[in-house]
Amino acid sequence: MAEEQHRSRLAFDADDEYRPEPPPPPEIPAWKDGSIRIGIHTSIAGDITGALEIAHGLGANALQIFSSSPRMWVRGVSRISEADAARFRARRAELALGPLVVHCNYLINLASPSPVLRTRSMQAFHQEIVRAAALGADYLVLHPGSGQGSGSDSAVAAISQALKLAARGLKLGELRILLENTAGQGSAVGSQFEELKAILDACPDLPLGVCIDTAHTFAAGWDIRTKEGLEGALANIDRTVGLVRVGVVHVNDSKVPLGSRVDRHEHIGKGKIGMEAFGRILNHPLLAACAFILETPIDKPGDDKRNVAALWRLTGRVVRASGPGMKPRRKKATKERGVRSSGRKKKRPRGK
Ligand SMILES: [Zn+2]
Ligand SMILES: [Zn+2]
Repeated sequence: MAEEQHRSRLAFDADDEYRPEPPPPPEIPAWKDGSIRIGIHTSIAGDITGALEIAHGLGANALQIFSSSPRMWVRGVSRISEADAARFRARRAELALGPLVVHCNYLINLASPSPVLRTRSMQAFHQEIVRAAALGADYLVLHPGSGQGSGSDSAVAAISQALKLAARGLKLGELRILLENTAGQGSAVGSQFEELKAILDACPDLPLGVCIDTAHTFAAGWDIRTKEGLEGALANIDRTVGLVRVGVVHVNDSKVPLGSRVDRHEHIGKGKIGMEAFGRILNHPLLAACAFILETPIDKPGDDKRNVAALWRLTGRVVRASGPGMKPRRKKATKERGVRSSGRKKKRPRGK
């Protein structure tokens, strides 16, 4: 009855017309200030938010992390609790660190000829996307995979299909998946930028890009030590995947000579690529929009500080570390696995 009365008073008034407020412009994070971004792969051991403090303390303004153990298959679902993710996102915003790069587990091989391993890889990559999105990451870096003798074309097709299946139904938000170029060891896909382009072309609906590793590029045969060599490599990258799709440069010197096709990272300026070449890379106008992320070894305490400082120096800035940095990797790796350091354990290069 009351409803009847109410309805009778309704008349259209132009002032009552609903005019939605324009949506607020997306909030631009503090780190997107156009300044050069220099970061380093930092440890999440103990507490994932601790990685932010380490990177900040080293004088980096960007970082890369693993979002879970990089050399183990996680049984079932490995999620980061929303409370931990929220704490991580808030602290990252406070420190204005960015971009945040998450590197995938090394065991993932989307081109594996073994159906069991390929399925497990797709499941693990699916979880990588879920965790990276929860952390608010900007990039998720993946090694394309290895067909182990199946031939490049079929490996590329297997990877493209697996990427689509693994990402199906997920909301990636701002997250971009970057395929990393490889040194070309064995039958690893991605030492040729044409292979990466073929994957990008096969997945037009996925937010895919590319991560260039300087040590891998050099080991794959591009002589980036010289100005001409760097220009040649960049021209090839631009012709194939397009430089606009390169989000991250992994800045690593190489322990091994040009064209060795193996992946051995060295401290900046101490390897076969050399300091002068890194000066050209960091200041190259075609790479100005990329983040530069170190994956250099930590053989002795302070190596991480020295490598971050070296990159800043090449850009003409002096940045001093305020924090303690990370412990040498070898000790950490043995401690993490609960194995007593016997000295027999073979050191494994990081950022392969
Ligand atoms: Zn990598
Ligand atoms: Zn590597």
